[in-house]
Amino acid sequence: MFDLLIINGICPDFKKGEIIHADIGILGGKITFIGQADDELKSSAASMIDAAGKVVSPGFIDIHMHEENFAKEGKHYVISEKMLEMGVTTGVAGQCGNPRQTLKEFKSVLEENGGSPINYLMLTGYNTYRVKHGVGRYDQPTEEQKKLIHEDLKKDMEEGAYGLSFGIEYDPGMTLDEMLEAVHASCYSPEQMVTAHFRDDGPRAVAAVNEMIQISDNIQQKFQISHLSSCAAVGVMDECLSIINEAMDRNPKLDYDTYPYHAFSTRVGSAVFDDGCFEKWGKDYSDILLTNEPYKNVFCTEEIFKDARENHPQMFCVAFVMNEPEIEAAIVNKKGMIASDGVLQNGSGHPRAAGTFPRVLGRYVREKGSISMYDALRKMTVLPADRMGLTHKGRLEKGCDADITIFNPETVCDQEDFLQLKKPVGIDYVIMDGEIVLKDGDIVNGRRGRFIPFR
Ligand SMILES: [Zn+2]
Repeated sequence: MFDLLIINGICPDFKKGEIIHADIGILGGKITFIGQADDELKSSAASMIDAAGKVVSPGFIDIHMHEENFAKEGKHYVISEKMLEMGVTTGVAGQCGNPRQTLKEFKSVLEENGGSPINYLMLTGYNTYRVKHGVGRYDQPTEEQKKLIHEDLKKDMEEGAYGLSFGIEYDPGMTLDEMLEAVHASCYSPEQMVTAHFRDDGPRAVAAVNEMIQISDNIQQKFQISHLSSCAAVGVMDECLSIINEAMDRNPKLDYDTYPYHAFSTRVGSAVFDDGCFEKWGKDYSDILLTNEPYKNVFCTEEIFKDARENHPQMFCVAFVMNEPEIEAAIVNKKGMIASDGVLQNGSGHPRAAGTFPRVLGRYVREKGSISMYDALRKMTVLPADRMGLTHKGRLEKGCDADITIFNPETVCDQEDFLQLKKPVGIDYVIMDGEIVLKDGDIVNGRRGRFIPFR
């Protein structure tokens, strides 16, 4: 007896370490059968999906994304819908030190809305509270300021945050000791996770990676190096990967995530674009694309860049400064996970928010053959699930949550467009807790997601 039976597909079996042919039966939101369904079982299914020629995968888990800014942009979903459209069923937000609102506020909007398109796990973020308590970007906090910051972090922890994120590059005054103190003051379980957006990119990325490894070595919690490619895919990826691989061998609590685009995205007023950045990257003003009015879809000149920095510092921009072979190296490395780092502002922004997972499957698995389907799926499902302690997600096993993404391996891909967000192709179905929430690329239920607290 099944609510839903998915037949004839292929799926990753993470216990066997291979892709297998299997039918999957779902009852009461859980996977209750995996194997070859006979006619009797088929006739007991209330509904059936024929997935012949398709991959039936656990729903993708995006271990690094940025949530909606409900306070500034209204209590509706944009990025969470983009996530669902690309096959993500669970995301980990509150990243790069910059949660968009307190966790209490975030949760109350999800509740008011009767759910969200995807499930959310949240981190609390250091920089947001550092700024709130008046610490200058290049300064260090006083003892009193630290106390206030830690109190705010602890409030988010009490609301169920999974851990703490830092955006070191955004507040260059932040020291290693300051970060360690914050972790020790606010995290209360070794099972929590700490993440960091590096201090620097370009030639100084190696030092930045070493600093993050140092954080990891000095805390009990899991530690995630965020979106490695935007730090190291500028000439030093090989060196960074060998340092990280070695550190991960010795410290199993360390890991990293990365996204598949050769451009990064952040606020144009941020310290990332301080003097000397173009020399460091070997790039020019014209490699920066602005994403909002009055400069929506405008590539910079020196004059526009300076005006945007001065008068629209909060505007997001896209910087085309990374090298494709190094992007690929971070994806195909035997360690590491895939994550989008998706971030949108007033509905627009970098296409990674709408296409990361389909792009890896289309470009690197199918077109280039540089990573196997199995390994790519592992990096977007079971690895992040285990990392977050979600033992009932990220895998297709009996008793697990029926969060499933069905896609066409012959067509799946993003539609990269830096001027306008486009839906990916090839995502046929997304199922959450046994219910179809997306069909043929269209969302049919955008309220199946929940906030998942740390416990
Ligand atoms: Zn970041």
